[in-house]
Amino acid sequence: MTDMRDPRTLHPKIDPPKQTQPHPGLDAELEPKGDLGLDTYQGNGRLKGRKALITGGDSGIGAAVAIAYAREGADVAIAYLPEEEPDAEKIIQAIEDAGQKALALPGDLQELAQCEAIVEKTVEAFGGLDILVNNASRQIWHDGIGNIPDDDFDATMKSNIYSSYRVTKAALPHLKPGSSIIFTSSIQAYEPSPHLLDYAMTKAAMNNLSKGLAQQLAPEGIRVNAVAPGPVWTPLQPSHGQPQDKIEGFGQHAPLGRAGQPAELAGAYVFLASDEASYVMGETLGVTGGSPTP
Ligand code: NAD
Ligand code: MG
Repeated sequence: MTDMRDPRTLHPKIDPPKQTQPHPGLDAELEPKGDLGLDTYQGNGRLKGRKALITGGDSGIGAAVAIAYAREGADVAIAYLPEEEPDAEKIIQAIEDAGQKALALPGDLQELAQCEAIVEKTVEAFGGLDILVNNASRQIWHDGIGNIPDDDFDATMKSNIYSSYRVTKAALPHLKPGSSIIFTSSIQAYEPSPHLLDYAMTKAAMNNLSKGLAQQLAPEGIRVNAVAPGPVWTPLQPSHGQPQDKIEGFGQHAPLGRAGQPAELAGAYVFLASDEASYVMGETLGVTGGSPTP
């Protein structure tokens, strides 16, 4: 008897109704709800005793990673925007239910001071930092380059590129041999959608930064990698991340025929953070439902 499961049906093929939320969006308001692995993720002590900081750990992929890390034995700090408190409270509870320390870090990562503060507070609360997951991002769609207001462009660059770069820089003095940094790229880094020009370029930057930094930090025993998700059902999408016609049937264009769920990303982040990935550096691991990530 095998417990092997068919990936086409392991998670439901969702058909979300048209919906919109103010940015940054809440998992609590998502229809249908995303699967964060709360009922399913089983840990095996693969991150026992480690201390992790996950930006955007309140919802979607970051929340699924936070739950998985805690169940693998790590203390987990999550950074998020103050408007996301209801989502964050659920994830803090899930980390504590796993028997680990949790730390809530609300604030805007467009600010340098906040990028530095989340690292300092994590180190203070947990007594160190071993795993950094740069996952926070802003995705606002626009119909043509001429329609991207300059302040909007700036906010996307700051939320995605600046924050990942600054949080990493602040974290570095605390990391040790065996530590792991993981950036969050996207299928958009390879196949940019014309309505996501600014967002897509920030995701390409994550691949580039990860590959360069991996070479810089390998001699210190610190591994740097990235994950490139395909279409995953999270609050990023209906909070002005996609036009309404792309919400209906979201993700069904992937070769697997359905959108991914946040829970399906957790394993990639656990692997890259764990000692099993000791020789994996400068890699971008695609989790796309079959779309190529060359
Ligand atoms: P999400 O909305 O659940 O998570 C993104 C998080 O980013 C938010 O929860 C928010 O806390 C945080 N954030 C954004 N701007 C911020 C700021 N200025 N300050 C502090 N926090 C800020 O959506 P998600 O889809 O889980 O996104 C997680 C990552 O996955 C992102 O990097 C995104 O680019 C990437 N990604 C998502 C998809 C997808 O289809 N959902 C596909 C490819 C890549
Ligand atoms: Mg959120």
